[in-house]
Amino acid sequence: MDNLVSQNWTQPLHAPESIPRTSDIVIIGGGIVGVSTAYFLARAGVNVTLCEKGHIACEQSGRNWGWVRKMLRDTREIPMMIESARIWENLANEIGEDVGFVQGGCLVLAQDQKYLNELEAWLPIAEEYGLDTCVVNRKNLNDHIAGAADKWVGGLYTKSDACAEPHKAAPAISRAAAHKGANILTSCAVRGIETAAGKVSAVVTEHGTIKTSTVLCAGGAWTSMFCRSLGISLPQLKVKGTVARLAPSEKLFDGDVYDDRLGIRRRQDGGYTIADGFLLDHPVTPATIRFGIRFLPALMMEFGKLRISIGKEFWDELCAPVRWSLDEISPFEQNRILSPAPSNRALRKTRAAIDNLLPQLASVKIVESWAGMVEVTPDVVPIICETAKIPGFFVATGFSGHGFGIGPGAGKAAAEMVSRSKSTFDLSDFNLRRFFDGTKIRPQQSV
Ligand SMILES: Cc1cc2nc3c(=O)[nH]c(=O)nc-3n(C[C@H](O)[C@H](O)[C@H](O)COP(=O)(O)OP(=O)(O)OC[C@H]3O[C@@H](n4cnc5c(N)ncnc54)[C@H](O)[C@@H]3O)c2cc1C
Repeated sequence: MDNLVSQNWTQPLHAPESIPRTSDIVIIGGGIVGVSTAYFLARAGVNVTLCEKGHIACEQSGRNWGWVRKMLRDTREIPMMIESARIWENLANEIGEDVGFVQGGCLVLAQDQKYLNELEAWLPIAEEYGLDTCVVNRKNLNDHIAGAADKWVGGLYTKSDACAEPHKAAPAISRAAAHKGANILTSCAVRGIETAAGKVSAVVTEHGTIKTSTVLCAGGAWTSMFCRSLGISLPQLKVKGTVARLAPSEKLFDGDVYDDRLGIRRRQDGGYTIADGFLLDHPVTPATIRFGIRFLPALMMEFGKLRISIGKEFWDELCAPVRWSLDEISPFEQNRILSPAPSNRALRKTRAAIDNLLPQLASVKIVESWAGMVEVTPDVVPIICETAKIPGFFVATGFSGHGFGIGPGAGKAAAEMVSRSKSTFDLSDFNLRRFFDGTKIRPQQSV
């Protein structure tokens, strides 16, 4: 099937026949974070409605590499990721649907000893959190991938790390949430919220108003714009990632393999999801200028990787309204599915990396390619909190290039947060306030 992955966002849209007049909690966004939150709330018996402007998983959550990894994560995320991995392991059983989950390990390869030493420096963190991460030396590399010892000096490996199929996971979780009683509305953009006495009182969608006291915005790359329309500053920038899919072919390994020239994952259909391991395209927009200073530490870390361009995105964002009337078509309906074109340069580089590093796959065709906009915060870890400005308005966003794996755990955290139940997680590191109260911005890991 030529559009196995992209079928998630290319199928026709159908507006909901009706929308509820009231809901205890309304979630904006049907990515992995929004649907997981809806699932945990519905499972706890909470009356919840999710509004997605396009299809479930039509943006990042359906377009990512599919890695579910604990290894080489920012320490602030590790406890939530460990819980997320636990949820993933049992997810298919629990919801009665396949999500493509395979515990095939994650291997990050080093071309030289210097980089291997840098990878090894993560071992004490792995030990602190009880992870099964280890160093693979050159002579053992061939046990992981035939011929690898000729190309790399070693790598860092976590056997319990995993992967899942992005085109399956979030849609399956959303169906499970609906089964437990959640209202899942697609083709239903949220234009804004209404307040009474300063607190959330309703959500205004393109199909009508839903009265509620609690809203979670899990709008991915749109969250900053949504918040700005409410007078809330939320620093977030976008980088484009280009991805491709190889036709089914010989099995070289299970799981996820990374070298800075190539990210590759064995797919459930017997093919591979592949991408350039290094290239990140950042289309400069007015937000780059507005938030640039806060992103300096991340920009410095990613300096060699970033390909910065100024083009259509700059003018589109410059001309976009900051506020709009809630009875008029909003930017969320005008651009229902954020679907950037894949970069030809990235595709060429990825093909060359495959041919050079994994010659066994040199004759295997690329059968599908696509791109997605990753949304990044200045310290490359998410924002999960209630906003100080509008009580009842919460956000769960900024998951950067690693929100798919942590998505179910983040959904559990967000569900506990919005229902004000006892929390499994300490969310203090994820408060939006950290970007404004003088906290030093320290990204630990790459996008
Ligand atoms: C190329 C690429 C590779 C990646 N690889 C990995 C990986 O291997 N592993 C990993 O863990 N992570 C990966 N990621 C990151 C991961 O995909 C994201 O962090 C994660 O999917 C974010 O989920 P989300 O639910 O927050 O956002 P999204 O999936 O972007 O969902 C947000 C949704 O909100 C909707 N929305 C926005 N505004 C409104 C509105 N006003 N009304 C209604 N709906 C609205 C959007 O349409 C969208 O569907 C990758 C991302 C990309 C793009």
